[in-house]
Amino acid sequence: MSTSNAVADGTTQTLRAAIAGEVFVPGDLGYDQARQAWNLAVDERPAVVVEAGSAADVTRAVRFARAQGMRIAPQGTGHGAPPLEPLDGAMLLRTSRMRGVRIDPVARTARAEAGAQWQDVTVPAAEHGLAALAGSSPDVGVTGYTLGGGLGWLARRYGLAANSVTAAELVTADGRLLRADAGHEPDLFWAVRGGGGSVGVVTALEMRLYPVRELYAGVLFFPIQRAAEVLHAWRAWTGTVPDEVTSIGRIMRFPPLPEVPEPLRSRAFALIEAACLGDVGTGAELIQPLRRLGPELDTFATIPAPGLQQVHMDPDQPVPSWGDGAFLADFPAAAIDALLAVAGPDADTPLASVEVRHLGGALARPAPDGGAQPSVGASHLVFAADLTPTPEAVAAARRHAQAVKDALAAWHASYDYYNFEETPVGASAVLPPAAYRRLQQIKAGYDPDQVIISAHPVWPALVRP
Ligand SMILES: Cc1cc2nc3c(=O)[nH]c(=O)nc-3n(C[C@H](O)[C@H](O)[C@H](O)COP(=O)(O)OP(=O)(O)OC[C@H]3O[C@@H](n4cnc5c(N)ncnc54)[C@H](O)[C@@H]3O)c2cc1C
Repeated sequence: MSTSNAVADGTTQTLRAAIAGEVFVPGDLGYDQARQAWNLAVDERPAVVVEAGSAADVTRAVRFARAQGMRIAPQGTGHGAPPLEPLDGAMLLRTSRMRGVRIDPVARTARAEAGAQWQDVTVPAAEHGLAALAGSSPDVGVTGYTLGGGLGWLARRYGLAANSVTAAELVTADGRLLRADAGHEPDLFWAVRGGGGSVGVVTALEMRLYPVRELYAGVLFFPIQRAAEVLHAWRAWTGTVPDEVTSIGRIMRFPPLPEVPEPLRSRAFALIEAACLGDVGTGAELIQPLRRLGPELDTFATIPAPGLQQVHMDPDQPVPSWGDGAFLADFPAAAIDALLAVAGPDADTPLASVEVRHLGGALARPAPDGGAQPSVGASHLVFAADLTPTPEAVAAARRHAQAVKDALAAWHASYDYYNFEETPVGASAVLPPAAYRRLQQIKAGYDPDQVIISAHPVWPALVRP
């Protein structure tokens, strides 16, 4: 479809007057701030930025974009901005003002507006002894994370966040506000549960919560020189633990920054991170074989469920970063040796973090009536990332993350993880093939002109790239 590079002043005045939120075009004071994604390495220059204040604003913005012949990129926080195509001539439709959350402690559900961050859900849910299937970071958006699957600390017990969604409200490309749930709009309901954000602009999600007040969770830090011993022990241990345990084996190289705690600053470690559902005695018993290895630092403790979002030590404010990942069908001992050759103590790599998440458990079992990712066809997930303040740093991160992926090529699954794929690739690379084909049919029905821009594009059935 045709796009315009600029929007006439008079035309945006109409939109400004019609919505409760704000509208910015290039040259406006506030345009640069409004277009800035959480990931500071991303520099998108859309023709217009709309900061919607409500579902009604989203509807008006979508209709406005259609009338102008513009495509629309929905965005909450911009954590997932790296793979987006250039937004020249498009509308960036930000939902970051829409952060309302309602917890129903009796039904054990949450309703989160599209711009809600995970901390907006986990903290009020915890007041009722409930936990959401949040990821590792408190300020990642509920919507983008969940649309792409959503792998968090409770994943081996409760599965992907997407399969706990009970309803979505969304504005389709033709400007209709619809509700999709078990009884309405079955195709849209299926598509939003793991198929990414290509079928409409979500205005709210409803999801199940789980009775988890506290967990036994933390990190064991070992000097990187012990990486082989520690990661082999972790891998063997994951074969013995129940679904109540979700864990990560990791190599971290901490930068020489003042905000990094002194014992970690400028040093490199092999880490084991884990969260164990159940009481402290059971958790301590489960962790004991790893503790016996004698970590330099041990942060395991009983923590309230929202505290899980500190365990992984994600940046707590916007940063420039770049990463890449892959699902692994298998992760034998030889894969650890291959990983250490490119990320271990003797490797010449700038990557700040190389992690392997242990999957399986509930993730491996198809969710009853699940969505586009009913289960995960992989036993592990590798992700490599770095802080990238300069284009040279981005190039280096890409090169070294690719080296990590290449080193593990023998064990790759048939597709990668939607949320951890920061390279601009189509959705066919990050979804099971059958799911992608059904998504193409749904896209053809709801958005045949490809108005909605998503992190990983879906080509409507019968339309060639
Ligand atoms: C520090 C960090 C930690 C992370 N931890 C985890 C983790 O533990 N587990 C995990 O699974 N992932 C994790 N991720 C990946 C994360 O889930 C993705 O980057 C996700 O896309 C972020 O969602 P967002 O809404 O914050 O980002 P955004 O960039 O705002 O959105 C990403 C994409 O989601 C879609 N989208 C967003 N809002 C809407 C909407 N209203 N309607 C339609 N489509 C929409 C769009 O396609 C958009 O391009 C992490 C990422 C970072 C940077």
